[in-house]
Amino acid sequence: MFRLSAVRPSHFLPSVCLLVSGLAAAYVKDLNVFFTSLFNVLPTLVLLLGGAYCTVYRRQRELFLMVTVYIAYFLLDTQADFYRDNSRVREDAAIVFHLVCLLLPLMFALYGAWQERTHLFQDMVARFAVLLAVGSVALGLEQSFPQALLGWLAEIRWPSLHGQWMSLIQLAYPVFLIAFVVLVVQYLRQPRPLHAAQIVGLIGIFWMLPQTFILPFTLNIMCSQVMLMIAAAVSHEAYQMAFRDELTGLPGRRALNERMQRLGRNYVLAMTDVDHFKKFNDTHGHDVGDQVLRLVASKLSKVTGGGRAYRYGGEEFALVFAGKSIEECLPHLEAVREVIANYNIQLRNQESRPQDDHQGRQRRGASAASSVSVTISIGVSERLLDHRSPDEVLKSADQALYSAKGAGRNCVMAYGHQAKRGAVRTA
Ligand code: GH3
Ligand code: MG
Ligand code: MG
Repeated sequence: MFRLSAVRPSHFLPSVCLLVSGLAAAYVKDLNVFFTSLFNVLPTLVLLLGGAYCTVYRRQRELFLMVTVYIAYFLLDTQADFYRDNSRVREDAAIVFHLVCLLLPLMFALYGAWQERTHLFQDMVARFAVLLAVGSVALGLEQSFPQALLGWLAEIRWPSLHGQWMSLIQLAYPVFLIAFVVLVVQYLRQPRPLHAAQIVGLIGIFWMLPQTFILPFTLNIMCSQVMLMIAAAVSHEAYQMAFRDELTGLPGRRALNERMQRLGRNYVLAMTDVDHFKKFNDTHGHDVGDQVLRLVASKLSKVTGGGRAYRYGGEEFALVFAGKSIEECLPHLEAVREVIANYNIQLRNQESRPQDDHQGRQRRGASAASSVSVTISIGVSERLLDHRSPDEVLKSADQALYSAKGAGRNCVMAYGHQAKRGAVRTA
């Protein structure tokens, strides 16, 4: 259920940086005119730019998260402005503030956990309908029964659980807690930058609310930062989509092309290809084939000697060793070839297949029916004087790979070297 092996600190990094910079900016005293004017327009600017960005990428969930944060900002900012100008709070300040404290985490978690599944237009209508319904009920109650609503919101229901530090209404804390748990569970089930940004964003909101009337511009800064976290997560995911291979999680062909433009004078490129993979697919099925590709990719990504693995396409992977000579790389290539050849892959029932490597290791053995193994062939080339571009080096590596296949597979063959390295499996 949880995919702990896919959890990455890099998912949290941009949001945490934005959170920390937001906290730091909120504590700065005596801001000059430039910054005060900037902070006054920042949330609207971020909403417009971020909203346009989400719309272009057709990300409704993120758009509605931003709109929710912006509405809360707008409601509270009106109150904060009144307070700043008149040195007293508006008569509806308490009820508006308490409602925001209750509804903001609720709506943030709801939109955060509400995955886009249906038709885009229907999805937008449904989200908008929820926003409208919640907004009109809240407004209706606030207009019709202000005192009763205020009493209900501010009531301390569980006196024994009420701490001195709690400056929000008591009801807001369980809502924040539930929202937090929902978003954390969602992240653990599907670790991706957006889900991480939502967790950090909720923490930012939790910190912001009690400071609304205390620290000037906290509201403007933190709401902008939370919206920026969401926009940054959208661009992080767009980057991953363009440069990462979805099946194996390795960087893909486009990332390889980009890397090849930035190689220096000395480098080594290796092409690897799974042996008899078509037959493997035919025997065990495409799904098992996919599992095997993931496993091969994970072993290749751990290649020693400073190599970096890319999925070139299909069952072919490229390895890049920058600043290395072929003699330095060969032992590492030989080692990874051997690791893969010696790894026994246990085939399990389709239904009980684990979600990740770790679970797989735990279960392996218990429900195993049979084990299989695959081998890879590797062709490798370093940059020689007659190579005019990295593409030519890659072609040479490909030629060496072809020779490795011809030499019986499960071996490493170096371009320009006659000797074959590694064990050749005898069929
Ligand atoms: P050789 O040892 O000569 O490389 O034989 P081969 O069968 O591996 O060679 P070939 O290139 O003809 O076959 C590649 C096969 O890889 C074809 C396709 O079924 C399989 N394949 C390519 N991409 C994927 C994928 O993403 N998932 C799965 N399961 N199979 C894939
Ligand atoms: Mg192939
Ligand atoms: Mg192959």
